[in-house]
Amino acid sequence: MSAKSKLYSFFPSLLTDEQGNELEAIEQGLDRVTQGELSYRFPKGRTKEFRRLTDRLNTMLERLQDQLDEVSKQKNEQETILASMLEGVMAVDTEHKIILCNDAIGQLLSIDKTQVTGLKVSEVIKNAQLQRFITQVLEEENENEQELNLSASDNRIIQVYGCPIPRSDFESTAAVFVINDITRVRRLENVRKDFVANVSHELKTPITSIKGFVETLLNGSTHTEQDRTRFLEIILRHADRLNAIIEDLLILARLEDGDVKDRGELGLEEKSIHEVVQSAFELCEFKGKTKEIQFVEGKGTEISFPMNVSLFEQAISNLLENAVKYSNPGGIVEVSAESSNGTVTVHVKDNGVGIEEHHLKRLFERFYRVDKARSRDVGGTGLGLAIVKHIVQLHKGWISVDSTPGKGTTFSLHFSKV
Ligand code: ADP
Repeated sequence: MSAKSKLYSFFPSLLTDEQGNELEAIEQGLDRVTQGELSYRFPKGRTKEFRRLTDRLNTMLERLQDQLDEVSKQKNEQETILASMLEGVMAVDTEHKIILCNDAIGQLLSIDKTQVTGLKVSEVIKNAQLQRFITQVLEEENENEQELNLSASDNRIIQVYGCPIPRSDFESTAAVFVINDITRVRRLENVRKDFVANVSHELKTPITSIKGFVETLLNGSTHTEQDRTRFLEIILRHADRLNAIIEDLLILARLEDGDVKDRGELGLEEKSIHEVVQSAFELCEFKGKTKEIQFVEGKGTEISFPMNVSLFEQAISNLLENAVKYSNPGGIVEVSAESSNGTVTVHVKDNGVGIEEHHLKRLFERFYRVDKARSRDVGGTGLGLAIVKHIVQLHKGWISVDSTPGKGTTFSLHFSKV
């Protein structure tokens, strides 16, 4: 039955032909709107009554269009916000089905966010602890927070917050979950805790010795002059050690200071390696001479690159001091350099005691020592290489080491030439 006949069948005797045509046009328009053509506008009616009707219909369509535009704008905004969030966000309905999740959650839980909508949480999330947490929030209808291990293999730690949504507000959404990857934060906390524990331990040893010898001096009226001098020398040695540790800690703290790092205030200057090596040789001359170690300037030191002169000098001096500390008397330490493909590499090579392969990976960690007793005997703090690594990294470079036990060690600092 056509539209015209449908309408005429109701009002056959009440409508003129012209009115019938107008009604038919309206009905055709309504069909188009029903099919989703919201931009459709009804042609103005020819009579006053039909004009009022078509005007109202058009106003209604405009409002509808505005409201839909507003809804889709809000939806776009919501999607953009969710997509740009670092936190994973997931909404789950009363039947434990996922109704929304953002990109971050896809990455965090290694799921394809476009494939999981409508699936049950238990089908998508493999971590049993996380599943239990989600079930608990949904069943108890209480907000909750938990920290859990995402996967044993890579030790990822997440913090998940779940918040139930009152049913009256959102028919189908039962709870929203926000997940944060806090692996890095926890790792840094552990590094800090270890660091504090290490510093305390390092400081405790000389302090305990100093205290012990001072007490011995105070209690012992029978000590000979020779004993007293020996005790005082030991106290001085431990005080020097304390001083060295604190100085190195201060250097590290300064290097880690946001001022230097974040604002790029490194103050780079194009300088030749030769100039810095010469002043580093002068700084270490005394220590070298006590063990008759020979400092040699090898090939390539005429090369220049943008550097912070005092920091680079500090790095070279630390390496020279180590080379002296861990070489036998009469050893040779050579500084050389080479340049290729926009990279400058500075080598500090000694023919000292060398380092066994399995130590090399951890060598640049703070307070890591191959031989604790030896390091302490030669006045090491365990921070020298950590400082060198930090300096190189501030220059956006990297450090490597090559060593053969009994033959010697070469530290190589790699910098960009620009
Ligand atoms: P330390 O103050 O103990 O020397 P570093 O951080 O400078 O601390 O070095 C860490 C450890 O690396 C040292 O304790 C030492 O065992 C080893 N090491 C560093 N440089 C050399 C080297 N040139 N030859 C052999 N071993 C070295």
